[in-house]
Amino acid sequence: MTSEIRTRFAPSPTGYLHLGGARSALFSWAFARHFGGVFVLRIEDTDVERSTPEAVAAILKAMDWLGLDYDEGPFYQMQHLARYNAVIGEMLSRGSAYHCYTSPEELEVMREEQRQRGEKPRYDGRWRPIAGKVLPPVPAGVKPVVRFANPREGAVSWHDLVKGPITISNDELDDLIIARSDGTPTYNFCVCVDDWDMGITHVIRGDDHINNTPRQINILAALGAKLPEYGHLPLILGPDGQKLSKRNGTVSVMQYELDGFLPDALINYLARLGWSHGDSEIFSREEMIKWFDIGHVSKSAAQWDPKKLAWLNQHYIKAMPDERLAELIAPRLAPNGVNLDDGPSLPAVIALVKDRAETLVQLADAITMFFRPVQPDPEMVLAHVSEAVYPALAAFVAQSVDIQWQRAEISALIKALLGRFSLKMPQLAVALRVFCVGQPQTPSIDAVLELVGRDRCVARIEAGLALFAGKD
Ligand code: GLU
Repeated sequence: MTSEIRTRFAPSPTGYLHLGGARSALFSWAFARHFGGVFVLRIEDTDVERSTPEAVAAILKAMDWLGLDYDEGPFYQMQHLARYNAVIGEMLSRGSAYHCYTSPEELEVMREEQRQRGEKPRYDGRWRPIAGKVLPPVPAGVKPVVRFANPREGAVSWHDLVKGPITISNDELDDLIIARSDGTPTYNFCVCVDDWDMGITHVIRGDDHINNTPRQINILAALGAKLPEYGHLPLILGPDGQKLSKRNGTVSVMQYELDGFLPDALINYLARLGWSHGDSEIFSREEMIKWFDIGHVSKSAAQWDPKKLAWLNQHYIKAMPDERLAELIAPRLAPNGVNLDDGPSLPAVIALVKDRAETLVQLADAITMFFRPVQPDPEMVLAHVSEAVYPALAAFVAQSVDIQWQRAEISALIKALLGRFSLKMPQLAVALRVFCVGQPQTPSIDAVLELVGRDRCVARIEAGLALFAGKD
């Protein structure tokens, strides 16, 4: 391809950015980036009743979080009304659009009659000017809509970049309303004017728009615009095989942020929803840009698989430098009642626990024990610590001053105490966990104790022993 590639993502700000939208944005972005082209963000806010500034903000935030940077925009369709009206005026004067005074009641009668005749309900073209035809008298006081004069004959064909050749007969398409009686332009029309004005060369979007495409192609042709190419991405199904929705999956992108997913993991996962590059499952954004080929997008629906996303997220957590994870995790720890100034180095703790975490939420939970105050908990002690262990704990405290406080020496001390007091590893290890970090399960005990620090461990074990000394 030689001329500049221009793609766009065109969300309607009627809610958050959902996963299907994010995938359309990602594929449009990757396509533009692959060819060194331009990616445009356009907010389609002409549905004023359903569009909200909160939804605009949510979409922009999600794009930012996902790292889907755009070169132009955000453009807002509501700022292009004068342009849409000017184009409608030109179409009216050229005869590619016309005023229609049919009232909603008349339309209903028309449709009912068509249904009774066994025909598909559609506008019958009664106000469409045709040479020699006498139009009905213009009713007084009625504001007309503007309809597009869709070609009467032939068919619309395009080679869909994903689905292959598609042909729709013009018989199937009636004369679409392009401006309502209050003068506001309609969705399919605004898309055409903007795609034309913005020089969009490739429209990549969900296949729920496939029925709009022949209408848009006809309008663009009537405007004398160069047609973009179209690629319609297959549906995303939920884990239950039904269309992905709130009911069978979390569909807001930012919910994944809250749930502790990394944007790189979600991007990698979304990329694989319908697209593949050989057997590659894990790849960077740069690799995706290099490899992205819309010809390799599957025609059939993709299925959302939460386990695979969790697996990818775990991979990205493991691969992320501990210092960077510490920056991301610190704000998540505050609600857990932790004081990061009273405990070991956060990156060091992360290095110990991160391999097991599938999400940042799990990681935050695993970290919390290192930073919260630990009080001996009688119930936990009763449940997990036998009194046979108490002398070994006292000896641990006594001998802890004689060793270097690092993993290997702590481990050696624990092993020596096992022999001396005839204990099994879990007995002593669990007791040390309960006293030093307030929970019976942790990663490797020597590593945990090293991080908690000698002074804190000694103080906590002593406090516990004092409290439980002499108890039955
Ligand atoms: N605004 C439309 C939507 O949010 C997308 C239009 C398009 O991509 O052409 O579904």
